Amino acid sequence: MNFLEERILKDGIVKEGNVLKVDSFLNHQMDIELLDRIGEEFYNRFKDKNITKVLTIEASGIAIACFVAKYFNVPLVFAKKSKSVNIDGDMYVAEIESFTHNCKNQVIVSQKFLNNDDHLLIIDDFLANGCALQGLISISENAGATIEGIGIVIEKGFQIGGKVIRNLGYHLESLAIVESMDASTSTVIFRDQGGNG
Ligand code: 5GP
Repeated sequence: MNFLEERILKDGIVKEGNVLKVDSFLNHQMDIELLDRIGEEFYNRFKDKNITKVLTIEASGIAIACFVAKYFNVPLVFAKKSKSVNIDGDMYVAEIESFTHNCKNQVIVSQKFLNNDDHLLIIDDFLANGCALQGLISISENAGATIEGIGIVIEKGFQIGGKVIRNLGYHLESLAIVESMDASTSTVIFRDQGGNG
């Protein structure tokens, strides 16, 4: 079991509706030491790629991606959620359905900050159905950037996102993959990633 899986077992809370709450160390209160280890772990997994920028989505992804960007010594760009339909010029736009908030958001990135020279590492906190990632992938493709890899902190392996993204051919690394969880017994079972988890 890796450091993140241990922490999820210790402090994660399984909620009804397939939601894992990790707000005591990742999504609300943040354990900075843990974020630093996460940043280092993603660096180790992707250091052979020529990463020029880290891309994430607000809000929870930002803090994690900061540490990743620090290890790679590259800028971090985050997609902003925007309710406005009249996005003025020069923006890459994608529509994303939110798993946790059950609504649709437009997400935007200024064209100033992504272009076809970029080699991206996409980072997010959770992977569930993959909508957030699909939005970031679409924005990256619109920019003509190369997606070198995708790093997820917690993948919920019983939802479709991981399968879809891997089938598209992306190099996706998840630090913990939840195989199953049960709110009534507060149990979380992880996928065995062969020592790499
Ligand atoms: P997806 O777009 O893959 O369906 O969902 C990913 C997004 O939904 C993540 O960025 C994360 O913010 C949120 N999310 C999905 N599942 C969970 C969950 O079980 N717990 C928490 N805290 N957030 C989740």
